[in-house]
Amino acid sequence: TDKTNARPIRRLDETVVNRIAAGEIIHRPANALKELIENCLDAGATNIQITIKDGGLKLLQILDNGHGIRREDMSIVCERFTTSKLKKFEDLSNISTYGFRGEALASISHVAHVTITTKTADSNCAYRACYSDGKLVPAKPGTSAEPKACAGNTGTQITAEDVFYNVPTRRKALKNPSDEYNRILDVVNRYAIHNSGVSFTCKKQGSNQADVNTLSTSSTLDNIRHIYGNVASELIELGKSFRKLEFKVNGYISNANYNLKKMNFLLFINHRAVENSSLKKTIESIYATYLPKSTHPYVYLSLEINPQNVDVNVHPTKREVSFLNEDEVIAAIGDTIQERLADANSSRVFLTQT
Ligand code: ADP
Ligand code: MG
Repeated sequence: TDKTNARPIRRLDETVVNRIAAGEIIHRPANALKELIENCLDAGATNIQITIKDGGLKLLQILDNGHGIRREDMSIVCERFTTSKLKKFEDLSNISTYGFRGEALASISHVAHVTITTKTADSNCAYRACYSDGKLVPAKPGTSAEPKACAGNTGTQITAEDVFYNVPTRRKALKNPSDEYNRILDVVNRYAIHNSGVSFTCKKQGSNQADVNTLSTSSTLDNIRHIYGNVASELIELGKSFRKLEFKVNGYISNANYNLKKMNFLLFINHRAVENSSLKKTIESIYATYLPKSTHPYVYLSLEINPQNVDVNVHPTKREVSFLNEDEVIAAIGDTIQERLADANSSRVFLTQT
């Protein structure tokens, strides 16, 4: 290229811009599925059924029995920044709206073919529509793009097909469907444990056996036993509120009788699955005094933090989340875990002595 003359600056095509933005939110099928699951839960679903083909690259399908989407909203539901969960700017600092920016469905529709079938309780039929690049598109060339009436139960089914069909570099980076499927199962497992009262199933398309299958009547502990097995009999329950720091911690942590090659850490902040590496490090160092060398615990924690104290500048789909007074909050959680472990350990010693 000519380096002596300035070249004209041109604006990138809007669909290219949207595709780039979408790629920042959806890195792999498991990210898309996490967003879709959160939407089902936000819609009050008690039953969520997931079907996957080729690690979600060929097909991600999710069916729920939530409140559905109104017919008149179907034309804009996949546009960027359209949401039923956030009304004004100030709401952004409220955690019940954390992660609600109306970007998920739009992003998915920019990198996959999306079909939505949905019915609200007060409608006498369901409607189905297809989407591409945020907009309604005909199901077949030459037909109308308008939502079509069809049969269906109250709730929503969303299908994303050929994920990253238009992003060849991303597609190439995700070569291993079974890796992607394991990441999907990990997301489903986390949400199933955190949402007792909601039944989850996840299976591969064409298989008649589910790889995850929880009941809406099961307790958290039942779900942990169902998904992770033995650890369920070696757990200590945790629950404590901190008024000054304005947060609560609940969960289950493994005792000193149990260990893993790698830490299994399920962290939810205000009901969204997130990661926090300093909290993880603190927990690991506490367990180091209780567990054999280079072994690790199972820890499921649910934090409820005053919404105003969670950093909303962190992008909603970034997994690493920070919050106000982070050091104090982490120290308080660490102390709680330390206490419970010490208690459990001394009662164990006592039992073996008698
Ligand atoms: P957000 O969740 O941030 O609002 P999304 O792009 O994830 O943005 O979803 C856009 C809107 O689509 C939601 O606000 C909701 O009104 C509707 N929606 C998406 N999924 C579902 C679902 N499973 N059930 C009911 N409504 C849904
Ligand atoms: Mg959403």
